[in-house]
Amino acid sequence: MIEFINVDKVYPNKVKALHNINLKINQGEFVAIIGLSGAGKSTLIRCINVMHEISSGELIVDGVKVHALKGRDIRSFRKRIGMIFQSFNLVTRTTALHNVLVSFVPELSFWRKLTGIFSKEHKIKALTALEQVGILDKAYVRVDQFSGGQQQRVALARTLAQNPDIILADEPIASLDPVTARQVMDDFKRINRDFRIPIILNIHHVEIALEYAQRIVGVREGQIVFDGKAEEVTEEV
Ligand code: ADP
Ligand code: ADP
Repeated sequence: MIEFINVDKVYPNKVKALHNINLKINQGEFVAIIGLSGAGKSTLIRCINVMHEISSGELIVDGVKVHALKGRDIRSFRKRIGMIFQSFNLVTRTTALHNVLVSFVPELSFWRKLTGIFSKEHKIKALTALEQVGILDKAYVRVDQFSGGQQQRVALARTLAQNPDIILADEPIASLDPVTARQVMDDFKRINRDFRIPIILNIHHVEIALEYAQRIVGVREGQIVFDGKAEEVTEEV
């Protein structure tokens, strides 16, 4: 469903972040991209939702030639992809429920967003998403009172409420302690299993990646140096 064919990415400053990437990811896979800082992990993930444009080659997602998309088509394509960041990117001065609601009710006016008037149907959908990540009891708590792990769960709920075809996560656990990081990884694993949504995340904790992902893609200096099952990974990667 995601296919990179001979993909290169060169940034305007001439840094070649990806070099001849060939990678195919299928429906329902749980893939961790690992590698040292600067290897190109983030670039690889961000090309999939067109936060970065590839410089050459082809990138095909669900039959869509992503490299050929323009303007409005990029925006509608992005709606199908859930994106999770290291820094959560939440609206911190409001509740968990509100954060989820505003993410998938885009037609809401500024005023309605501010006053928090939402339809019952939307509210149920948002509460269901919060339940799916185990924080339903915190729906009405302001997210700035949450721990890092709980904030990442709100971000995950927000993504789920958008019914994404794919979930991408750019260093989702980098700012979490090991215990919380594992809780968040448990959520990813459960979502991947229950909804068969492919999840692609990059992670620099190799140990945690091997513990959770079915498939490991090792990147070094913009190239794929390993692609296989977690149990096949050796010290070399
Ligand atoms: P990783 O996620 O593995 O740490 P990145 O994909 O962030 O690696 O970066 C790969 C290389 O591309 C690095 O040399 C980095 O400095 C460079 N790079 C990343 N983003 C940009 C950018 N927006 N402009 C220029 N160079 C970038
Ligand atoms: P992360 O690894 O979480 O993406 P970075 O610190 O690598 O964080 O990058 C932060 C931002 O700076 C990103 O948007 C990235 O694309 C950009 N960036 C990274 N390296 C460079 C670089 N060498 N030149 C310009 N922008 C860069």
